[in-house]
Amino acid sequence: MDQAWVKARVIGGVAGALAAAMGLAVMLGWHLNLPALVRVTPSFSPMAYNAALALFLAGIGLLAAGFRWSRVSLLIGGAVALVGALHLAEYVLGVDLGIDELLMPAYLPKETRFPGRMALHMAIALIALGSALVVMARPVASRRPLLPGLLGAVVAALGLGTLTSYAIGLQTASTWSNYPFMGFNAALGLSVTSVGVIGLAWQQGKQEKTGTPHWFPVLVAAAGIVVSLVLWQALENQQHAHIDRTVQAEADNLRQDLAARIEQQVRGIEDLGRQWESQGHPRQADWEWDALLPFDYSFVKLAAWVDPSLHVRWVVPGRGNAAYQDLDLGANEGIRSTLEHAQALRRPQTSSLFRLPTGERGFLIARAVFPGDRADGFVACFFLLNPLCSSAFRPGSQTRYALTVLEDGQETYGYRMRGVAYDDAWSAESAAELCGARWTVRVSPPRDVIQELSTKLPGVFLVLSLLPAFLLALAVHLAQTSQLRGTQLAAANLELKAEVVERQRAQEELRKQAELLDLTHDSIILRDLHGRITFWNRGAEEQYGWKQEEALGQVTHTLLQTKFPISLEELQQKLRDEGRWEGELTHRTRGGGEIVVASRHVVQRDRDGTPLAILEINNDITERRRAEEDLKRHVEELARSNAELEQFAYVASHDLQEPLRMVASYTQLLARRYRDRLDSTAEEFIDYAVDGARRMQNLINDLLTYSRVGTRGKEFAPTDCGKVLETAIANLQTAIEENGAAVAQDPLPIVMADDSQMLQLLQNLVANAVKFHGAEPPPVHVSARRQAKDWLFAVRDNGIGIDSAHQQRIFTIFQRLHGKAEYPGTGIGLAICKKIVERHGGRIWVESQAGNGSTFHFTIPA
Ligand code: ADP
Repeated sequence: MDQAWVKARVIGGVAGALAAAMGLAVMLGWHLNLPALVRVTPSFSPMAYNAALALFLAGIGLLAAGFRWSRVSLLIGGAVALVGALHLAEYVLGVDLGIDELLMPAYLPKETRFPGRMALHMAIALIALGSALVVMARPVASRRPLLPGLLGAVVAALGLGTLTSYAIGLQTASTWSNYPFMGFNAALGLSVTSVGVIGLAWQQGKQEKTGTPHWFPVLVAAAGIVVSLVLWQALENQQHAHIDRTVQAEADNLRQDLAARIEQQVRGIEDLGRQWESQGHPRQADWEWDALLPFDYSFVKLAAWVDPSLHVRWVVPGRGNAAYQDLDLGANEGIRSTLEHAQALRRPQTSSLFRLPTGERGFLIARAVFPGDRADGFVACFFLLNPLCSSAFRPGSQTRYALTVLEDGQETYGYRMRGVAYDDAWSAESAAELCGARWTVRVSPPRDVIQELSTKLPGVFLVLSLLPAFLLALAVHLAQTSQLRGTQLAAANLELKAEVVERQRAQEELRKQAELLDLTHDSIILRDLHGRITFWNRGAEEQYGWKQEEALGQVTHTLLQTKFPISLEELQQKLRDEGRWEGELTHRTRGGGEIVVASRHVVQRDRDGTPLAILEINNDITERRRAEEDLKRHVEELARSNAELEQFAYVASHDLQEPLRMVASYTQLLARRYRDRLDSTAEEFIDYAVDGARRMQNLINDLLTYSRVGTRGKEFAPTDCGKVLETAIANLQTAIEENGAAVAQDPLPIVMADDSQMLQLLQNLVANAVKFHGAEPPPVHVSARRQAKDWLFAVRDNGIGIDSAHQQRIFTIFQRLHGKAEYPGTGIGLAICKKIVERHGGRIWVESQAGNGSTFHFTIPA
């Protein structure tokens, strides 16, 4: 089990178990109604039940991924991503899929429009988390750790971003717009799972290479970007909230101003009414006097007493308001119902806007008066809308906001300063209930106010936080690169060192070998595959004359001007095929001389069999070759002179026969014719002469026979030695019988030979064996046996034997050991035998002891 495996199990196991436990705790909290488990503290948002379930599942998925239960983590990852995707779809499409409270009613709400729904950030994080699990579950070979790493970074950023927002109280960071907030525990859970995902991806990456994974900077950048975006968006949100609040405050202020003015008039109406009720129906002059004081007639058109028949009776101020005198308010449906309401409720009531008889737009507020049980008409004020609004908004307030007043949603009054640009997108409303009328004040801030309120902070923050994210990623990348370089460098250094040590060792080895190699006189040359010399021993220096430093690096056959017996290509082919080559080469030495070397080439290979170099050992055989050639020449010379000699002997003995015969016959003739006339001394002399001539004749005959062996020999043919011996015995029949000899023979082989010479050979040897017998009758034994490539013949007798001093001599022509009187003969027999045997490519010799018999051996090639 590799180390990365173990680490992956630890990371996946710990992070997965933690996350699962956290998810489970929240789910239990929901089931058992333990708010502390669901939202940590009351001020925090609760973690949605679905989010808790997804976190629990993701934890199990991580565990499975750590233990390489790919199928489990794949399934769970898909489920988690699906949960996230469904919730995201709810937000994006603005639909309610009914899943928010499917498993658990959200009884712990923190004011939200979407009860029970997990935060948008959580949904996104779950998609990333689930996808990371799915991606990591793919088969090892197709894994790319970058993707799960990136997804993990997104999860981390969302989790850590939310944790940060809780830490700095910037809750807006945990959500988008006015969506639900992410719970603190959810953020914590996401952070834990992200550590698991990134850790696992890291380990997966590590299985490929060492060191931090190459995608780590991308991951850092991604996390930085997401955190920056989340916090930037949070700052933006906060700023928007600030602007909203400011504009809203303005709207509220103005609404209050407006309401205050109206309420003041209402209080006047109340006072007048109460006075009427306490004192009874007043006199008109008194009432008109009283009615002058409480009202602000800059926007109150008039105060009036409306009699129970709904006709305006008394009018203050009277001047300019003649049109209202005796006005029948019952004619106006809206006003009549307002008055009826006021009477029924016994409270002041505001009418809706209407056009006054004088043409302006306005409304009235009326209060019924009940001096006793019976109603006695109404105290009413007619308000002028425009002056009211102008007085309420303009003189006192310095506002530059655009104003709109709405009654029941209908625009009734609008005010915009000329030359001011307004931003209606930021408008705010404030509603007031004014004696039954629903008025709303809407304000739109001028653009410059918005600009004043919006700082560049979020943008600056975004840039300032993105920049470090990129810088950090860059730094990590650089650090990583330098670390990688460092590692590579260190590895390369180590390798180099090992190589140096190895090379030194090899060189030392080589040096020792070279010392050994220097001991030999052979030249030993090592050449690389390009033929360049890499080693040149002392033998080579001596043989060729170049020093080692001159020879190294040169191409062998160029330096030595090698002449090959075969082409260089053929030689190389042979080396490739068989790994070795042997043959003779001609080299030129430094001094220019040519030498012949016996050359052996062997290919050196490494352990894998890849050829490394070629070892060439050259042995100078120039001298030997010369000697061999001399010898050959001598042999040829000798053969030639031998042949000449033979020819001479033959010619001489042949030609000498005739004159000799003449000398002999005429001497005999002389002896016969003049025997009586010569004295005994002369006769003796003639006998000597005749004898000499005869002897000479015999010698010459023998010589002729001898020379014929070489000059008149026949072609070799298969010859049955057994038959040949029988013929020889038949020829010698008389001698054998005379000497009482017996010739025994073993089976003899058939050999390639000249049959008549074979006969001559065997006959001579058998004749000698019979002739040189001792006291005993001679048993002669002829045998043959195979010995290596030859047949070894033996002719054995038990005769007189030959002293070892003479055993060589007897094979020489005319050499005898005995006088003619003892044993007849001329001494040519064995010489002929020798010549015959040699002509057949064999050898002849004798093994004998004087007086102990002899054995003549000869060989004939089989
Ligand atoms: P020759 O028989 O005419 O004397 P050879 O050449 O046949 O001549 O023999 C040479 C000599 O070798 C003989 O004179 C004899 O002394 C000796 N010799 C040859 N054969 C034998 C043998 N079988 N035993 C003893 N001596 C022998």
